[in-house]
Amino acid sequence: MRSRSRRVLVLGGTREARTLASRLDSEPGVEVISSLAGRVREPVLPVGQVRVGGFGGIDGLVHWLRDNEIDAVVDATHPFAARITANAAAATAWIGVPLLVLRRPEWVPGPGDDWHVVPDLVAAAESVTELGERVFLTIGRQGVDAFADASGWFLIRAIDPPEVRMPERSELLLARGPFTVDDEAALMRRYRIDVLVTKNSGGALTSAKLAAARRLGVPVVMVARTPIPDGVASTTDPDVAVDWVLHD
Ligand code: NAP
Repeated sequence: MRSRSRRVLVLGGTREARTLASRLDSEPGVEVISSLAGRVREPVLPVGQVRVGGFGGIDGLVHWLRDNEIDAVVDATHPFAARITANAAAATAWIGVPLLVLRRPEWVPGPGDDWHVVPDLVAAAESVTELGERVFLTIGRQGVDAFADASGWFLIRAIDPPEVRMPERSELLLARGPFTVDDEAALMRRYRIDVLVTKNSGGALTSAKLAAARRLGVPVVMVARTPIPDGVASTTDPDVAVDWVLHD
């Protein structure tokens, strides 16, 4: 018989993490603490306890997990938040705390899609110049500087303004999804977009741009995800993550 609640750290910053935190918060015998990096100025907060800010690398995370007597960690961060995922894998392995990675499923190309899959943003910047002149850049605000010296004109959409160097010929559009396919297609027509750049984040909230690109015959430069670290358990299903916390 467990003498205290099972204390679970949910590494968050995503809708999946908020869903998981809310599900776990209603479970008797589970105490959930969500962690946010603190990058977004007005984040949507999960229910339950929340802490904000980096841990200070692997060492900092190890200390935090020990100090807070964490029994299990679910990494539900964005599929492109590779550093915190690597840190979580290293820190939990070091002190023997179970870790599960919860990742939303990837987008996959369908009939009519013209995707050009690249490994990273540097390769994406090289690829756009070959594909078009008027670029719709939807990679968030981080990494925009990879395109700073690329030729072409850029419509850059992000939730908060990038704090890095941007392409000279560009316009910034601050907006937060979800977006509809009709609106995305209208936006792309209005700006005469001839190539779309995105990261394979997955999820329904921001996938309308892909359907709009298909509809308009616009090629997509798709940045592939970084693989989950070797030996780390993972799922795309929040139900599996809840079961894992309750029964593992
Ligand atoms: P990252 O490159 O993997 O992480 C950089 C550093 O930020 C980490 O080393 C860690 O600092 C801190 N950090 C990241 N996530 C954290 C969390 N959930 N709680 C506490 N500290 C965290 O991550 P990122 O790409 O900058 O993303 C930051 C956050 O934004 C993530 O939580 C992610 O879920 C969310 N997000 C990212 C994207 C994206 O495209 N990358 C999109 C939407 C949301 P320390 O080393 O000091 O611990």
